[in-house]
Amino acid sequence: MILLKHIHKKFKNNHVLKGIDLEVSKGDVVTIIGPSGSGKTTLLRCVNYLEKPDEGIISINDLTIQTKKPVKKDILQLRRRTAMVFQHYNLFENKTVLENVTEGLIIAQKKSKKMAREIGVDILTKVGLADKINAYPQQLSGGQKQRVGIARALALNPDVLLFDEPTSALDPEMVGEVLEIIREIASGGVTMMIVTHEIDFACEVSNRVVFMDDGQIIEQGPPDDILIHPKQERTRKFLKRIM
Ligand code: ADP
Repeated sequence: MILLKHIHKKFKNNHVLKGIDLEVSKGDVVTIIGPSGSGKTTLLRCVNYLEKPDEGIISINDLTIQTKKPVKKDILQLRRRTAMVFQHYNLFENKTVLENVTEGLIIAQKKSKKMAREIGVDILTKVGLADKINAYPQQLSGGQKQRVGIARALALNPDVLLFDEPTSALDPEMVGEVLEIIREIASGGVTMMIVTHEIDFACEVSNRVVFMDDGQIIEQGPPDDILIHPKQERTRKFLKRIM
């Protein structure tokens, strides 16, 4: 369903992605782990063109973008088929919880206000925020803000949900509630790519773990293979350091 071929990205002289090849099938939950600075977030951001890759091909279903000569309308399409959950939530502070969720439905997807509201209320109820729809982000805890971020992404009904370290800005006591929501969404068959430091969570929720180091995929496979019986020395060293 998603195919990344030979993705390269440089920031000036910093060669951050060095030829990434990755396939994700419909319903896959793929977690991306690896040392800080290895390019995980950049890779995720390339998937929806928040970062423009310098080289390579990105395909999502029948849409293919040659990143050396991308077509503008294809980039818009790509963005419509993907939705990102950010580390720092990126909510509109001057909009209510419900408006944060309906904004994209009304502006990008041209849904009526009534329809957007129905979808928004439904999804906010699913993430346990029915009683907060008229609150503003500043009135929420970090865990609640991130649940709004997840609801906003989910409401767009994307082909793939992208999570960029969704719990790393949270106080420890809030991590559980956010992981629980992600777990529920994953069990519903939504295709996901998740950059995370939560190794136990990666092991439990994903059907594939990708280990990255220094801009490359070092190994990938089922969670047990990568997290318990890694083949590569670099993976072993990384896991030893963090576990
Ligand atoms: P990770 O998610 O694995 O911690 P990142 O993808 O965030 O890694 O970063 C990889 C490298 O790219 C780092 O050296 C980082 O400083 C650099 N980098 C990331 N984003 C930018 C940017 N917008 N401008 C310049 N350098 C960046």
